[in-house]
Amino acid sequence: TPPPAFVNAPLKDFSHERVREEFRRSLAAVRSRLGATYLLDIAGVPPQGAALEASRNPARPSEILGQVAVADVDHAERAVRNANRAFPGWRDMPVSARVALCRRAADIMDARRGELAAWQVLETGKNWREADADVAEAVDYLRYYPYRMEQLAGWQPTRCFPGEPNHLRYEPRGVAVVIPPWNFPLAILTGMTAAALVAGNTAIVKPATPANLVAHGFKSVLDEAGFPPGVCQLLPGNGATVGRYLVKHRDVHVIAFTGSKAVGLEILQEAHTLAPEQRHIKQVVCEMGGKNAIIVDEDADLDEAVAQTLYSAFGYQGQKCSACSRLIAVGRVHDRLVKRLAEALDSYDYGPPEDPAFLFGPMITRDAQRKAQSYIELGRSEGRLHYLGRVPADGFYCPPALFTGIEPRHRLAREEIFGPVLAVMRAPTFEAALTLALESDYALTGGVFSRLPDHLDLARDRYRVGNLYLNRRTTGARVGVQPFGGTRLSGTGIQAGGPDYLKQFLWTRVVSENT
Ligand code: GLU
Repeated sequence: TPPPAFVNAPLKDFSHERVREEFRRSLAAVRSRLGATYLLDIAGVPPQGAALEASRNPARPSEILGQVAVADVDHAERAVRNANRAFPGWRDMPVSARVALCRRAADIMDARRGELAAWQVLETGKNWREADADVAEAVDYLRYYPYRMEQLAGWQPTRCFPGEPNHLRYEPRGVAVVIPPWNFPLAILTGMTAAALVAGNTAIVKPATPANLVAHGFKSVLDEAGFPPGVCQLLPGNGATVGRYLVKHRDVHVIAFTGSKAVGLEILQEAHTLAPEQRHIKQVVCEMGGKNAIIVDEDADLDEAVAQTLYSAFGYQGQKCSACSRLIAVGRVHDRLVKRLAEALDSYDYGPPEDPAFLFGPMITRDAQRKAQSYIELGRSEGRLHYLGRVPADGFYCPPALFTGIEPRHRLAREEIFGPVLAVMRAPTFEAALTLALESDYALTGGVFSRLPDHLDLARDRYRVGNLYLNRRTTGARVGVQPFGGTRLSGTGIQAGGPDYLKQFLWTRVVSENT
């Protein structure tokens, strides 16, 4: 029988009361489990004794959701040894068995969607829809990469010379270290890990500290699915110590990272410096930032452009690398556009995402809040503050801000803020807008709202970003549908959820026989 074709998990429709009621129950179930302690689970390490890190609700920082044991470098060393030991057995397992385990994990995750999303609402400040979409994306990765792996499995004939059959096979690389971000806390963590595992690598996952509990949810899914010991280990810990130790480790073969440009560049450098006795070159898969622009053409449908831009810029408080942070208005559309954006923004309320009335919630941490606020201060001197929202006093909130009069040289036009700050720029023509949009160190997502087919074609041709969206929002890529990732300083370029991603976790071997 042919392998099942890949299908995306459908998103939940919260417009139905039944679906809302079900999610309220998930939130209540998670609430009843708050305050627990999560121990390290590394073979050879006593479960007690590691330092604990409190996980907090960013909407109510005094609320401690759980205590997570965090690893030090000795634990990391042990984890690498375990992963190394588990590798040959996992590598030599039939691909079909690894695929089956991942699919089982996908089904378990799908069945636990409500609970896994509820943890995100509490721990990372996502609203219901964003949290549900994140879990659905995670499920998708656990189905998409196995589906791709099935297509790559086994000895494949290459061009046959007379009397000399030649065959190629994809092989795993070894121990993979996965360093995911907190902003798509289950999806990206699961995506990078699923790719590493189904390809036959063993994985050590060093989650982002603000999403440690979500990461524990992931690990519990793998445990329930029955992954063999040592094949995937969760190692919460500090990036600068434990993360760096793993990146530099002699016995690590692959590093899959999604996060800031600064950390990504450091990882690339450290991973590509040979450690004593290291006998291989590490493969680094890096997805970094964005400074994404949406161009609104003079004739654009403003109903669409306004709604989709707001979602792209302020969804999850702008904490997405795909988020729109520059808006380029072509010609006369500027004033109307800015007015409509401000009016629409004014109708939004910010508040704790446990309440579905609030579309927008808090920033992830106090530091993230301060950083975004400092850009608002900076924006006041670089451009004109056109609109500033109101947010609750308690919690790590940052008000949404809209700036006009921003020029390409301004920091607001160049630096990734990762917050609810939108810089509006002007361009006299569509061509000039394209030039402005491309004036960036990053090239991740881009958007265009236009009714002119010629302009859309021009953008298709010249707007060289990883994901270009025409007349729609710039966030929310679906696995297998919109392979996601950028170029320049946005990343190493092979898109997640796309046909080639898995190959980064593999190498190829060719056998030629004289018959
Ligand atoms: N894949 C996400 C999207 O399309 C963005 C991922 C990120 O922010 O890291 O919105």
